Amino acid sequence: MAFLKISEPGESRKAKTRKLAVGIDLGTTNSLITSGGDGEVEVILDEVGEGLLPSVVHYNAEGGSTVGVDAQKEAKRDPKNTISSVKRLLGRSKLEGLEINRFKQHKFDSEYGEDTLPAIITGAGTKDPIQISADILTTLASRVRQRFGSEIDGAVITVPAYFNDAQRQQTKKAAELANLNVLRLINEPTAAALAYGLDSNEEGNVVVYDLGGGTFDVSVLSLRKGVFEVLATGGDTALGGDDIDHAICEWITENGLTEETLNANYSELILYANSIKHQLSEEDCIDLVFKNWSGTLDRGEFAKICEPFIRKTINACRRVLRDSKIALQDIHSVVMVGGSTRSPVIREAVEKYFGRPPLTSIDPDTVVAVGAGIQAEVLVGNNTTENFLLLDVNPLSLGIETMGELVEKIIPRNTTIPVSRAQDFTTFKDGQTVMSIHVLQGERELVSDCRSLAKFNLKGIPQMVAGAAKIRVSFQIDADGLLSVSAEELSTQQKAEIQVKPSFGLSANFIEDILESSHENAESDMETRSLRESQVEAKQLIDSIDFALKSDRELLNEEEKLTLDHAKDRLIELIDSGTSAKIREATEELNRISSEFAARRMDLHIGQALKGEIIDNIDNS
Ligand code: ADP
Ligand code: MG
Repeated sequence: MAFLKISEPGESRKAKTRKLAVGIDLGTTNSLITSGGDGEVEVILDEVGEGLLPSVVHYNAEGGSTVGVDAQKEAKRDPKNTISSVKRLLGRSKLEGLEINRFKQHKFDSEYGEDTLPAIITGAGTKDPIQISADILTTLASRVRQRFGSEIDGAVITVPAYFNDAQRQQTKKAAELANLNVLRLINEPTAAALAYGLDSNEEGNVVVYDLGGGTFDVSVLSLRKGVFEVLATGGDTALGGDDIDHAICEWITENGLTEETLNANYSELILYANSIKHQLSEEDCIDLVFKNWSGTLDRGEFAKICEPFIRKTINACRRVLRDSKIALQDIHSVVMVGGSTRSPVIREAVEKYFGRPPLTSIDPDTVVAVGAGIQAEVLVGNNTTENFLLLDVNPLSLGIETMGELVEKIIPRNTTIPVSRAQDFTTFKDGQTVMSIHVLQGERELVSDCRSLAKFNLKGIPQMVAGAAKIRVSFQIDADGLLSVSAEELSTQQKAEIQVKPSFGLSANFIEDILESSHENAESDMETRSLRESQVEAKQLIDSIDFALKSDRELLNEEEKLTLDHAKDRLIELIDSGTSAKIREATEELNRISSEFAARRMDLHIGQALKGEIIDNIDNS
């Protein structure tokens, strides 16, 4: 016996409670973590209120490590054991690692073969890029665990769009080593576009300009039917804010700082140059003092210092547009990412080239992590509103069989996955103790026109009158497309479930055929559905009248009984031959005729139930 539907398809309920999801931007220079733990996705700060975590790890002789600002402080004292920019080593061979200038001060483990990971010898042992990255991720994750006091259910981690398979695999491994469940890796530019909600547009082309500390990335994304595709990427892996810092030092030297002072204080001067650059994002002109040297720097002069670097980035933009075969005027949005895009000179140059103001309202340091956090909320199942990036969608509707051999859709096609939906059903027959759950896939209304995925039984339903039992059927599709269906009788919590892979045996052609036939048959399907529903309704009414007649026949006189029988017979006849409108009409008629009978039965049964009760008790209850 199948189910009878009792709640509307629209009234779906969340089957699970909120989960703790995080988004992580594992940057070359800085990393950060976001979470929607409190509802809104936000950057999770450390104990001193800092969001950015410098991607620097220091290993000490006791075998321990520090990450972030504390590690940065060790860089000067103990450079051999302080590792920064480890992201540049991910997915590289040992040989490649040795060639990256930034790692010249480190000693690589020679025991490893040429194709193996470029492991660095530190006071705490040999560390490969996966382990070092894992230490950064662990520090970030601990912020979230501390803040919300619970385990993280899933993480979305961003990677540059140009990352190859090995680089992506190693990022994932690092996360696993840090005890994080990786829901998905997403491209940094895609995350930035998501943070600005650009996925809610119908379509469009988006340029993401990302100027960080040591790298410049530019990507052209195309949004079609809710899916972002990276059309082209470009940039320069050795171009970023660090270069501007060095150029400021050069400018100071050209303007009178002596060679000796420069050589004796270079690392201090670099930090000073960095602070000058940051100040110029706020002020037009600043006074400078360094040791025995002093001067002034205004934005006009600063623009000249930056000019060669900016020109390189704009040239890269031109190349990437050419590669993507998208014309300048067909770019709908330009998104600014990376700390260096805080500098107004850079924003102005980008605006000039693209002929439109770039999007800058979200902090460029955090925009990637925010987008990752938003995606994590969707993937973990907290946010099921459909206007989110359709990274993966359920290609065909999924539902179950209900009375009349009809299909009740529970997860409609094109719903973003993972997703969970629940709907309540009830029994059709009095005393029904078993229900058979038939899981179906397809767009048609009748069971015979859909694809049967699985069948299972829910047993042990307590004996109740028809319509009294409440059975919750939950559908859940995880990120890998696996469907779990469970049915639970709510009063006894008796439960049964099954898992299926709905995509098994589904080809693109097959899906197309199904959609086509659903369009072709839409009208006749709706008619059939309406007919079946009216038949079920009519049978239900007849069943209940027959049941009532068995016990309370004497409440009707002969004439009344005849009228009732006549209306009932007419409906029985129509069930097999009538249209849905005719059946509904006759059902209503029978309902009207039997209402007096139902009222008398009600009086009789209430009277019996109340026999012996004192009137006071009734008033009080
Ligand atoms: P990455 O993606 O490489 O980890 P970030 O996006 O964090 O790097 O960018 C770091 C760079 O941004 C540094 O060079 C830093 O000096 C620069 N930066 C940060 N804040 C500002 C600012 N207010 N003005 C100009 N540059 C800034
Ligand atoms: Mg970055």
